[in-house]
Amino acid sequence: MAGERTSGGSQTSLREANRARIVSAVQHRGSITQIELAGVTGLSTATISNIVKELVAAGVLQTTPTSRSGRRAQEVSLARNLGLVAGVHVGEREMRVALADVALKVVAEQRLPLPPGHRADSGLDRAALLIEELVETVGAPIGEVLAIGVGIPAPVDTRTGRVTAPRILAGWAEADVPAVLGDRLGLPVLVDNDSNLGALAEARLGIGRGLSDLLWVGLGHGIGMGVVVDGAVVHGRRGAAGEIGHVLDVEDGSTCRCGLRGCLEGSIGSAALAARLATTHGHLALRDIVGRALAGDAACGRVVGDAGRRLGRALSTAVTVLDPDVVVIDGDLAGAGEVLLGPLRTELEARAVPAEGGPVRVEVSGLGGAARVRGALVLALDAHRVGVPIGSLT
Ligand SMILES: [Zn+2]
Repeated sequence: MAGERTSGGSQTSLREANRARIVSAVQHRGSITQIELAGVTGLSTATISNIVKELVAAGVLQTTPTSRSGRRAQEVSLARNLGLVAGVHVGEREMRVALADVALKVVAEQRLPLPPGHRADSGLDRAALLIEELVETVGAPIGEVLAIGVGIPAPVDTRTGRVTAPRILAGWAEADVPAVLGDRLGLPVLVDNDSNLGALAEARLGIGRGLSDLLWVGLGHGIGMGVVVDGAVVHGRRGAAGEIGHVLDVEDGSTCRCGLRGCLEGSIGSAALAARLATTHGHLALRDIVGRALAGDAACGRVVGDAGRRLGRALSTAVTVLDPDVVVIDGDLAGAGEVLLGPLRTELEARAVPAEGGPVRVEVSGLGGAARVRGALVLALDAHRVGVPIGSLT
């Protein structure tokens, strides 16, 4: 209260609260300048500067000189010695494992092809081996890993780590990922849908930094979407929020692996695109289709453009319902750039309610195809709150 004398005790607890706010903001953003910290926490730059200095001395934070808009600045991140986090992305045809420090800087990474219809038992065995290998390559004991985040391409109940729509990923339907991987490595394991993790990474480390609402769409073998509202991933009742690959695209269309008919994935998933070109081009992998479309192959360009239009139609409903700041497009098909995005934007603009500020931004992810594994790292780090060793401070 104004004018009231503040006791020594409440001064100390205020300082502790401010330290905790700063550490939490740094953890949330991975790395952040002191000026940005002032903006995020509402504290004065002088207070930020003092507390950051104390926390650097205590070994909690580290600073590196950087520049923002041509001006010198201090970038603040969590100190390296606070531990490591591991992230696993189980894709339809590939596994990606990464190891990062607590500033979310990737220190080691490995990719492994997976056979079609892969199963959880062999998949988790490989993931465990890869994590152990990566930890060894950076010369750290496994005990330095704080937690493991895992993304799988199916709806997941994040409380149990179990798949809630077993038909979508049959080989993983019964798997207890946290128990199997956790027991094997002796570490906490968190699981989420891989598109949710793509959205999480984009919100925290990519195009969505500083924005509140976004949609992240992964286009490849399957079609997935992650939804971020007010900075948090939306899971829904069964972890199935954002399953845009399984919204209706073709009335009475062909049967989908999810059990429905006429799903969007059946029209624009990689197998569907390849099938449309089979008579003229033979079997093409998605990357070949994208490469040829970019090189000017008319049929490939048309198939990719059609996919953009169909995706735009499905997304226009999500955009109308959620009014996001940005729609981020990722996955192998996103490599087609404007061949895909042009028709996608046209469709979205035609179907969105005209409003101030123009149509929603649509951009290709800047995380180089690694959004989902980076999201798994964020998930692991979030599970482990970095404590401030108050005893080491005065
Ligand atoms: Zn479906």
